[in-house]
Amino acid sequence: MGDEAQQTDRRVEAFSPEAIRAQFPALDQAVHGKPLVYLDNAATTQKPRMVIDTVREFYERDNANIHRGVHTLSARASERFEGARERIARSLNADSEREIVFVRGVTEAINLLAHSLSADWSAGDEVIVSELEHHANIVPWLMLKERKGIEIKVIPANDQGELEVDALPDLISDRTRLVAVNHVSNALGTVNPVARISEIARERGVPLLVDGAQGLPHGPVDVQALGCDFYACSSHKVFGPSGVGALYARGDWFERLPPFLGGGDMIEEVRFDGIRFAPPPSKFEAGTPNIEGAIGFAAALEWADGLDWLAIERHEQALLERMTDGLSTIEGLSIVGQARHKVPVVSFLVEGAHPHDIGTLLDSMGIAVRTGHHCAMPLMQRFGALTGTARASAAFYNTFDDIDRFVDATKRVRDMLV
Ligand SMILES: *Cc1c(COP(=O)(O)O)cnc(C)c1O
Repeated sequence: MGDEAQQTDRRVEAFSPEAIRAQFPALDQAVHGKPLVYLDNAATTQKPRMVIDTVREFYERDNANIHRGVHTLSARASERFEGARERIARSLNADSEREIVFVRGVTEAINLLAHSLSADWSAGDEVIVSELEHHANIVPWLMLKERKGIEIKVIPANDQGELEVDALPDLISDRTRLVAVNHVSNALGTVNPVARISEIARERGVPLLVDGAQGLPHGPVDVQALGCDFYACSSHKVFGPSGVGALYARGDWFERLPPFLGGGDMIEEVRFDGIRFAPPPSKFEAGTPNIEGAIGFAAALEWADGLDWLAIERHEQALLERMTDGLSTIEGLSIVGQARHKVPVVSFLVEGAHPHDIGTLLDSMGIAVRTGHHCAMPLMQRFGALTGTARASAAFYNTFDDIDRFVDATKRVRDMLV
């Protein structure tokens, strides 16, 4: 995303939000008698028919456990699972599929890193996160603070919801073991200057982890261009199945790190007096993985890679502008997070109305938004939004009509509640 040189050769077909939308069966339904307007994409995305068909066909034809069987179905399932890994490596522009480990999602990816990276950390070592983080990139470090006495430092956000990256160099010390930030804030929609953060971290020899949960849904990601050491993503946020994701680790990181979970598939030899671990990526994939999920995830990325991302970026920016302009006309409504570089996510407050009531009334009009703290309580505290916010988050399959219906409904809700 934001990397235009890389996007120019991806224009496979002309972009039409209506044509894209028609590929998503779940979007074509009524809720409380009104056509569904789905604006909760930062929580999870809907799935295109191609992904649904891929998963169904896998169950109908190839389903078997992987890696252990000599029989035909197991060989097919293994081949498709490893093919999915190659596809994901290609989509992220990793050097090798050995840099990709399947996980349950971003949450597990960060827990894996917190466990494995910290094997040689001691009290007083530091992790730098940002004020914009999701709990998935806060809680594992807080748990390490309790267990090992590490320190957590925070890159502050300004009143627009942008990171004050200039504060980073002074936060880094010779005890800093990791910088960990999200690519895009799920709560405010801010796109963070990850390449710049990466430069600063690299100059000081500190590895960088990027929580990419909200990055990948809004454009191709190139881990080489970003310059990060680790990139974590969740399939369900990017039009694929739930319960699966990928962790990218540059070069020989996975060789050097100790494993996270122990069990079958991640070993070469087990004796009661010792173990030898399998080489990565197997070393980090104990137990039966989410095979159909990985295959569906790869299908989703393959499908998305064929889209015209320059046109999508323009469409998403137009959706954002329409949403921002529309909501700004509503009395007593304030938008939390007005960064210059945003994806179409708008968090807002209405004076005198509880976000939960706004969400419930919008639902009765067929409109799905999320309300609450968006798994980012420190960020909500930063903006004084103690009851959380209401958040509308669009994807490229949303249309101007969706946005207009949402804005009109929000106006009516405001008049009902205030
Ligand atoms: C959704 C999300 C996560 C957590 O992803 P899971 O798939 O629930 O593990 C982490 N970070 C951000 C920014 C997210 O949006």
